[in-house]
Amino acid sequence: MALCECKKKAVIDVRTPMCKEHFIEFFEDKVEQTIHEFDLFSNNSKIAVAASGGKDSTTLLYLIKKLHGNITAIAIDEGIHDYRDKNLDNLKKFCSKENIELKIYSFKDYTGLTLDEALKHFKLSPCHVCGIWRRYLINKAAREYDVLATGHNLDDEAQSVVMNMMKSNLKILARLGPVSGNIKDPKFTSRVKPLYFIHEKEVAVYALLKGFLTDFTECPNAKDSFRSTVRDELNDLEKVRRGSKERIVRGFLNNLDSIISNNKDELSFCSQCQEPTKESICNSCKLLNKLAAV
Ligand code: SF4
Repeated sequence: MALCECKKKAVIDVRTPMCKEHFIEFFEDKVEQTIHEFDLFSNNSKIAVAASGGKDSTTLLYLIKKLHGNITAIAIDEGIHDYRDKNLDNLKKFCSKENIELKIYSFKDYTGLTLDEALKHFKLSPCHVCGIWRRYLINKAAREYDVLATGHNLDDEAQSVVMNMMKSNLKILARLGPVSGNIKDPKFTSRVKPLYFIHEKEVAVYALLKGFLTDFTECPNAKDSFRSTVRDELNDLEKVRRGSKERIVRGFLNNLDSIISNNKDELSFCSQCQEPTKESICNSCKLLNKLAAV
């Protein structure tokens, strides 16, 4: 590994070689700059953090607690055997050590079934069902907060931009950005992404240096092949053209206002549960109706 500008041994070389002390200082400054540049929240904001026990959200919890003080972690227990229970145990320990309030909502309490049990009744991909119910529960849980901070990093965002451009999916592109979602409604809490300009590798190294990485487990259902392909391509591009991921995201942000103004989400409310949706019945209720019919 190369040397940092201070001549100490570098621990990372994603942008420029940096020693442990300079990297931690850079990382925390970059997150703080993003919060200010995009006005993600103020000193008085009531903040919830979507937490999973993984490196991104644990880093986010730590930093927002450090920068802002009082926060609440919101976690969803999907009921995925040998995965979520382990990560939730890590999260509970972390929140207890850092004195962070933790609220956990489960698929089992909401639907009567864990995700593993529900999937036996659907011919749908696990991530499709999981995504619908996760968004539903998180949105309801976050309602009493001013913002919901999520652990999306630069790699996640660059991948989402490229994937949705390749699919010409402008409606979804319009929901990306450091403050995601273009819906203004009391039943919808804004999502904010303080790690927006931080590379995934930087989060991993920061979490390692801070001792957050314990025995984090990958979800057994994580087989998103299109995202994996785009991720590998962008990683290769970044190796030969350093800064490519940030240029993709900055270029996207330069055009985000016009994408949003041409692709505004029309919000209505589900006739069954009265939660926000774009259709007469929300996707979550549609899944519950399918379950009730089996
Ligand atoms: Fe849910 Fe799929 Fe993520 Fe697993 S990989 S937690 S099933 S969305």
